[in-house]
Amino acid sequence: MMSQSVSVPLQTLTHPVFRQRGIEVKVLRDDLYRLPPWSEEVRQHLAGNKWHKLRYNADQARREGHTTLLAFGGAYSNLIRAVATLGQAEGFRTIGVIRGEPHEPLNPVLQWACQCGMTLHYVDRTHYRQKHEPAFRDALAQQFGRFYLIPEGGSNALAVRGCRDILASVEEPYDWVCCPCGTGGTLAGLVVGMRPEAQALGFSVLKGGDFLRDDVRQLLHAYARQFGPVSDRSWDVCTAYHFGGYARTTAELTSFVSHFTSVHRIPLEPIYTGKMFYGIVALAEKGFFPRGSALVAVHTGGVF
Ligand SMILES: *Cc1c(COP(=O)(O)O)cnc(C)c1O
Repeated sequence: MMSQSVSVPLQTLTHPVFRQRGIEVKVLRDDLYRLPPWSEEVRQHLAGNKWHKLRYNADQARREGHTTLLAFGGAYSNLIRAVATLGQAEGFRTIGVIRGEPHEPLNPVLQWACQCGMTLHYVDRTHYRQKHEPAFRDALAQQFGRFYLIPEGGSNALAVRGCRDILASVEEPYDWVCCPCGTGGTLAGLVVGMRPEAQALGFSVLKGGDFLRDDVRQLLHAYARQFGPVSDRSWDVCTAYHFGGYARTTAELTSFVSHFTSVHRIPLEPIYTGKMFYGIVALAEKGFFPRGSALVAVHTGGVF
């Protein structure tokens, strides 16, 4: 896959709280990132951070002579959707190991995955927890043959390398970079790719997301081993706006998301980007960002 220089739109967000606190917030519309000239449908299903996380992994798989990609995920996983789509676009066979029991009719994610030719393999929750064990992998290899394993959430050194490019087209200076945080691969990539003077802040979409700091640190080490050292950067994970945990929401978050979408004409969803924008507004209200700060909030996609 050729890397291409693209300009991603930066959209200023006006909000009374931002004005009051003297900060400037711009949204990096990575959800509109220009993808390779695949069909419009394929591009829609791959837009956002999963494309950055997968592109170098797909190159690596091909270099290693793989023809099959295997990924794990829940029934509504954006990663499963993206891997299935990439497989169809780039000619890989794909296998999705799905947590839980099969349900008919299939939800839209799994329906799309099947349409892309993905083989769905359901694993009950108890066995799914053993997915990191060699015996579990061996059983999958017995059943499906040799495969390139896409890691949990798609996050590894190659994913960090891909997410490093997210900020590449931003020319104006900024003090803060924000993104939602599920496994931390996107945050790690932003940390590597941001101006060294800036600070990165990830918003955990999971309950008890303190472990994410260790995960991001490990991803940064893995990146450094493969691509060379990264100078000291300032970054953190905010764990206060998870709204009960992954894919959980509240009436307050739901109403924030629909209000935001109608006022700013930027589509959000409550799982990732909704929690980040809620968190940014809430932190601004508390005076967390010093007056005069310029923020770039990365819209990581997720709206299909
Ligand atoms: C998967 C996903 C994330 C989480 O990215 P991580 O690199 O796992 O932290 C954020 N936003 C959207 C829209 C996603 O689909």
